[in-house]
Amino acid sequence: MATTKSPKQLTRAKAGEIFERLAAAEPAPQTELHYKNPFTLVVAVALSAQATDEGVNKATKPLFSIADTPEKMAALGEKKLGDYIKTIGLWRNKAKNVIALSKMLIEDYGGAVPETRDELEKLPGVGRKTANVVMNVAFGAPTIAVDTHIFRVSNRTGLAPGKNPLEVELGLEKIVPQAFLQHAHHWLILHGRYVCKARKPECWRCAIADLCGFKDKVLSPDRPAKTAKKKTATKKKTAPKKRLAAKPKLRAAKKTAKKKAIAK
Ligand code: SF4
Repeated sequence: MATTKSPKQLTRAKAGEIFERLAAAEPAPQTELHYKNPFTLVVAVALSAQATDEGVNKATKPLFSIADTPEKMAALGEKKLGDYIKTIGLWRNKAKNVIALSKMLIEDYGGAVPETRDELEKLPGVGRKTANVVMNVAFGAPTIAVDTHIFRVSNRTGLAPGKNPLEVELGLEKIVPQAFLQHAHHWLILHGRYVCKARKPECWRCAIADLCGFKDKVLSPDRPAKTAKKKTATKKKTAPKKRLAAKPKLRAAKKTAKKKAIAK
């Protein structure tokens, strides 16, 4: 996950104010992924890697109506599961993992979803981010699952600058006031998804603009999104090299011409 240079880390007071405002705007934020129980939540989150929640919800609606337990999912099998999730990126691998994790849940946990990070991360296709979402949403743990939106917002604002998701997660755990930890990741995801967008952050309507440390705020909807500079400079840089390479040849040609003239 690449990011531009982050601003200075915000103070605790500013971080507290940010969450006061995000909480006031959305007191009870929810995940936008549809699920029926902890098992379907694990499956939905595992399917959502590199896919949109909307796309996952479309696929899981008919899937969860026939397979909402590890037993039913394992009985469905990889091939039939694949038919339900073909519209989701990396579906082959995801189908394999969902069937494998369903079998593991049946064999090792009596069909229940475990509550600890260590146990969750042992399930096929479940990494730290998925484990954090499941712990938070299904079991009420104050975990923060850093996805692409949270990573961007945390770096841009200066809330928790970090080079990778784990650094950002640990930074957020330190700076987010205890009272807001439970819902912090939902507030940040929603803020990143709908306001602090990747290409063009909508700073002109952002509730935390005066607290945010981002230097390049977009303060009007009319301002175009910043695009990468064209690579014209590269061409100029390579041109002298060619000239240098051509020089010895030119000199050699001149020398030969001179010799021929003398010989005549
Ligand atoms: S001011 Fe702009 S960059 Fe800062 S959080 Fe709001 S939308 Fe994002």
